[in-house]
Amino acid sequence: MLALHGFGVGNGIAIGRALVLRKFQPAIERRDVDDIEAEVERFKIAIANTRAELRRARGKIPAHSPGEVAGLVDAHLMMLEDASVAVAPEQIIRDEQCNAEWALKIQNDKLGEVFAQMNDAYLRSKKSDVDQVINRVQWQLAGGEDSDNDDALEGRILFANDLAPADAVLLKSQRIAAFATNLGGPISHTAILARSLRIPAIVGLHGAARFVNNGERVIIDGSSGIVIIDPDDRLVEEYQNRRLQGWRKLRELAALKDERTQTRDGHEIALLANIELPNEVGSARKVKAAGVGLFRTEYLFMNREEAPGEEEQYAAYRHVVESLGRPVTIRTIDIGSDKQSAAVAPTTVATNPALGLRAIRLCLSEPGLFRPQLRAILRASAHGPVDMMIPMVSSLDELDRTLDLIREVKRELRREQHNFDDQIRIGGMVEVPAAAISADMFANRLDFLSIGTNDLIQYTLAIDRVDDDVNYLYDPLHPAVLRLIKNTIDAGTRAGIPVSMCGEMAGDATYTRLLLGMNLKLFSMDPLRLLSVKSMIRNSDYEKLREQADDILSLNEPGELHDAVDRLNE
Ligand code: PEP
Ligand code: MG
Repeated sequence: MLALHGFGVGNGIAIGRALVLRKFQPAIERRDVDDIEAEVERFKIAIANTRAELRRARGKIPAHSPGEVAGLVDAHLMMLEDASVAVAPEQIIRDEQCNAEWALKIQNDKLGEVFAQMNDAYLRSKKSDVDQVINRVQWQLAGGEDSDNDDALEGRILFANDLAPADAVLLKSQRIAAFATNLGGPISHTAILARSLRIPAIVGLHGAARFVNNGERVIIDGSSGIVIIDPDDRLVEEYQNRRLQGWRKLRELAALKDERTQTRDGHEIALLANIELPNEVGSARKVKAAGVGLFRTEYLFMNREEAPGEEEQYAAYRHVVESLGRPVTIRTIDIGSDKQSAAVAPTTVATNPALGLRAIRLCLSEPGLFRPQLRAILRASAHGPVDMMIPMVSSLDELDRTLDLIREVKRELRREQHNFDDQIRIGGMVEVPAAAISADMFANRLDFLSIGTNDLIQYTLAIDRVDDDVNYLYDPLHPAVLRLIKNTIDAGTRAGIPVSMCGEMAGDATYTRLLLGMNLKLFSMDPLRLLSVKSMIRNSDYEKLREQADDILSLNEPGELHDAVDRLNE
């Protein structure tokens, strides 16, 4: 028996037999070929089969999946069609008179050199997507027979070095029980996908997956991030019980949707939903969220060549506002860094894209992109309660320029006799340490603040969100992070404006009590997590937590802090 630790990203427990993908990777060796044309034909068939497989994956993406899921499969399809993958190996087969596998390997090595020379870390990281596409073709060349065999995968727990989003979608449709990967971090694409596809999953095993053998019995605890290899019967029974408890808990939680979100001592808390695309509003309604606290509008700009115009955006925002019938916080575009859009391609390649022209910085530099969005959001505000939220504010000057532009757009709409809510509330996201430290300055100019812990943690602790090598440093309970959160909540309270939190931390019930004790009253999260946070709130005493949180915030030792939060949650 052996236990491995990674990041648990999909809730739930799975028990089953391991299927280790790495072991199925065909070994690639050079072979001389006599019949060059036949080999070229074999290569072309493998490309065509891979294309068909990817298209099948595209067609199986569940309707509720974030737009980026389809976008990533599309990106793989585009890479497959690129001449460097689909054509160049053909020439290598002819020149070297070698087998297709070897030609593809030579071409992949060449591409590796090109990517390694790129200055931009984000673009460099795209090499792993190329690898995934080329591996698919290699798989096809090797016969590819099992990749579409549903029975081979059903109920199995998959171990892989990394999984492409297309694989995750395909695997879900083939009813795998769970997956675990060496690479990836808690907010990597694979993790986001596992959550949205509801697959128990663990990422970031850092090579530990090599200890697993095919067919071995394993337990995956997607909540705690623990993989147990070859467990004894007693442990299997224990986890089976835990799994039953988990299912029971989910059923109990569903009953909570009609209950008030109130602490035991009568303090009302608002639980809001984060959505990426307009059609996700149904998930927010299902759990009876008090509204949408974060509508990530940049997803409307992804997977397309042209940015959506004002009318298209207006229709999308209006649809969300009208179908929810509750307040909707529309965040202006947060493109840049790891969120890229072909429709808003950067003109230069940044050395550190997370610190570059992203979010409000990009919008201010491209009024042709920003103005139609401001007009669309304002016009949607005529159809129900809308708040507008500005991402990544870091300087007052930038905020003032944004507020000036909004005033100007309002004047324009008035002149054109468009209806909109003149009192629309404008808020700012606190996700840069500078904004959190000087939250009072921002609070004086804005109608509300929302803490984006995903970026706040990234920038405060200097850990790249998408780099799994530094994910071990990701800690929402780091004293620096807690102090910045506290400073922001206090600044908002002093200025008399609401402060919400919409980063992942808000949807993790582990932190609910601590955040309540820090006086947070508005939480926005993935709708799936809303009812467990609600349950925690309904079992908490706000006044008592206020005192306990002060004691916790005075602690500095990470171990002590984590223990104190565990005690708070007992
Ligand atoms: C955040 O940074 O916490 C946030 C909610 O924004 P995003 O995850 O979209 O960057
Ligand atoms: Mg952010």
